[in-house]
Amino acid sequence: MTSNDLLAKSKKHLWLPFTQMSDYEKDPLIIESGNGVYLKDIEGNTYLDGYSSLWLNVHGHRKKEIDEAIEKQLQLIAHSTLLGAANIPSIQLAEKLVELAPEAITRVFYSDSGAEAVEIAVKMAYQYWQNRGYENKKSFVTLSNGYHGDTVGTMSVGSIELYHKVYTSLLFDAIVIPFPSSRQEEQTESDLCRESLKQLRELFEAKHEEIAGITVEALIQGAGGMNLMPKGYLKGVEQLCKEFHILLIVDEVATGFGRTGKMFAVEHENVQPDIMTVAKGITGGYLPIAATLTQEHIYEAFYGEYTDLKTFFHGHSYTGNQLGCAAALANLEIFEKENIIQQVEEKALFLEEQLKHVAELEFVGAVRQLGLMCGIELVQHKRTNEPFPWEQRVAYRSTLKMRALGMLTRPLGDVIVLMPPLAATNDQLKQMVDIMKEGIMEAATECLEQQV
Ligand code: PLP
Repeated sequence: MTSNDLLAKSKKHLWLPFTQMSDYEKDPLIIESGNGVYLKDIEGNTYLDGYSSLWLNVHGHRKKEIDEAIEKQLQLIAHSTLLGAANIPSIQLAEKLVELAPEAITRVFYSDSGAEAVEIAVKMAYQYWQNRGYENKKSFVTLSNGYHGDTVGTMSVGSIELYHKVYTSLLFDAIVIPFPSSRQEEQTESDLCRESLKQLRELFEAKHEEIAGITVEALIQGAGGMNLMPKGYLKGVEQLCKEFHILLIVDEVATGFGRTGKMFAVEHENVQPDIMTVAKGITGGYLPIAATLTQEHIYEAFYGEYTDLKTFFHGHSYTGNQLGCAAALANLEIFEKENIIQQVEEKALFLEEQLKHVAELEFVGAVRQLGLMCGIELVQHKRTNEPFPWEQRVAYRSTLKMRALGMLTRPLGDVIVLMPPLAATNDQLKQMVDIMKEGIMEAATECLEQQV
């Protein structure tokens, strides 16, 4: 099939996720292959993968060890169901995940995407209290601007107006508390932390008898715009959850597997979630595996005779898929073999230096970074922090400019995401930042010119 045929057919038959298809029609892109941190389209153009193919890719594309692990597994079997029957790679991966996860985690429940992992966490937390006879503990607390996926349950514990508002009457009510970000200039990080925890304490004091759990992204909100929590906040939430018997559900879908410079972001504050969700980087960005990890007391609340009616009636056709688990095992072995976590710590420092040049740009209001997870917020004027009119889509246009310059990424509103594969070298990170600077300057200047 020629490139023109592929383009025509993609426009005729495909419906892409999170995409206004009229945008795609104007600027289509079809990826043919990938190698290392590069992607190649059907026209032969190569691009740096500046968003790790949507925050997934870890060791680069076509990583030999993962390719081989999948091929080896394929000689045995691609898939058999996990409903009522285990399989070998799913057992081995569960053991590995428990070994890597915070100490209190002992159980692994598989699914296929980050949203499913969180949906499962919410259902588990709900049924946990029902099974234990606390029938009033039914509601969930969540942070403003939080994102946990696009299923009805995860949208209910999510709070991004642009994505969720239209579905309001379809969703269950969650208690939304403000994400702890500072609005007053003179407020220090520790003041902000203390005051935000005080508010949470008041809520828990008033409503703990009806609250089943709280869902939080670990340390940094991803899709909400790369917002960093003040230091100590997540630890404080953990302590309040313990005190008021509320389950702490930490979403590590975006932050897990080295992204923030630790295997899991909760390690930065030594937090032990009751339930923790992982996906994305778990297979190195190869195959759709996700997992909901739990402490033993969660598992025990579901354990008994069938007739006790405590079973967790949840599962998906591809849950625990062997090819995916084999890829995940190979991915995690490379973490050890290549000392990836230490590498990320070092690369994050290098990237921080590079991003200082981005922060100086007239059109950059803020640069937020945790490890190799970064957001660059664009504004019309640095001095006033005034945003561009949203209809101008300055960040989206910047990413199109970056594409023309040889890098792919996606915006989140006026925030540009930089989430390189963890394997990116310092040279490649520098190239990405240079392209970003140029793309931002071109698009922002164009937007301003159009205003006059
Ligand atoms: N949770 C967080 C924190 C995420 O960032 C995402 C996706 O970006 C999800 C959940 C949903 O994951 P998935 O797209 O695999 O459903």
